[in-house]
Amino acid sequence: MRLDAIRQLDIGGYPYQVELVDGDIHDDDDENQNLAGEVNYSELRIRLDSRLPEPLRKSVLLHEALHALLYQAGRTEDNEQIVMALGYGITMLLRHNRAFATYLLED
Ligand SMILES: [Zn+2]
Repeated sequence: MRLDAIRQLDIGGYPYQVELVDGDIHDDDDENQNLAGEVNYSELRIRLDSRLPEPLRKSVLLHEALHALLYQAGRTEDNEQIVMALGYGITMLLRHNRAFATYLLED
């Protein structure tokens, strides 16, 4: 499945729209910094740079979803290091252990 098939993510009961963006996504805190993706909590929107190759889109989408989960849990600052670790870590854990991923998804 490609990212194009995912238009929306339910994150903690909230419907976040998922958008691929042509062109740079600028960091609100640093206009000179371009981002691979960003999450906007008040607009319930996740945007990803369309130039990202498909394998990276997976990690970046999970990364932004993790930001949203932590935000909903009240952790609004200094999350980058843990989100980086979990975003790549969970993606690789599930990709390298497909039986585990299937087991998690079963009812
Ligand atoms: Zn981040």
